[in-house]
Amino acid sequence: MMKIFCVANQKGGVGKTTTAVNLAAGLAQIGQRVLLVDLDPQGNATMGSGVAKQSLKTTVYHVLIGSTTVAQARIKTEAGYDVLPANRELAGAEVELVELDDRERRMKSALATVAADYDFILIDCPPSLSMLTLNALVSAHGVIIPMQCEYFALEGLTDLVNTIKRVTGAFNKELTIIGLLRVMFDPRMTLAQQVSSQLEKHFADKVFRTIIPRNVRLAEAPSYGQPGVVFDPASKGAQAYVGFAEELVSRMASVDGVGTRVAA
Ligand code: ADP
Ligand code: MG
Repeated sequence: MMKIFCVANQKGGVGKTTTAVNLAAGLAQIGQRVLLVDLDPQGNATMGSGVAKQSLKTTVYHVLIGSTTVAQARIKTEAGYDVLPANRELAGAEVELVELDDRERRMKSALATVAADYDFILIDCPPSLSMLTLNALVSAHGVIIPMQCEYFALEGLTDLVNTIKRVTGAFNKELTIIGLLRVMFDPRMTLAQQVSSQLEKHFADKVFRTIIPRNVRLAEAPSYGQPGVVFDPASKGAQAYVGFAEELVSRMASVDGVGTRVAA
């Protein structure tokens, strides 16, 4: 069954886009059909997928305001997944959506039209809890939260978890936190180790087993218009993201498949 996951965290620079792009590439590499939706006006996921954002005639913005369809606006990438691109125009959607019917559900309706084409739809969220993020959360089955293991990481998490609870109550009962992903991890830092084990203690199996290390190849890849997974497959960062894709697929298999039926 197709799953829609948003990669969200209202903080900027925590590794959302790096995670969305590399998870998309990792999933494609293990044979999954993937659509990556860029929902950030910065268009970093678009560029990082090798799509020039300036020249685009149709983007996720046009999909949200209803002037085109996902099928028309999506673009095939060399990394093996499709991207629904974004650029600065998307910033205007924030205001325009307010005027439109079903403003919180426009992403959900749009994605429903291509549901049969994919195993996973990943949404790269902007660094805010805005109308765009709300659209992503309303359309999703689950949230993947990348976080750095530092002191203030936990503080921001509370706001996000509260927002997710509100969305669950008002719009989308299915929505769950799939997991917290530790990213940019530096095992030499004592604080990182401490926060990491705190996370495991409090959130138990909501913490993914895969840990993404700090790895310069992941940071270099976007300037070549490639996911790190494609840019340097042998790098530690690339391997970690492919491992994460595998972990995600096996988690889904145990939820959807025999696991639940035996339990039920
Ligand atoms: P966000 O989308 O949350 O704003 P990004 O994914 O753009 O965050 O990451 C912020 C910066 O950190 C970028 O310059 C990115 O290349 C870098 N970065 C992300 N993950 C890693 C990592 N595991 N190792 C090294 N650099 C990383
Ligand atoms: Mg980003």
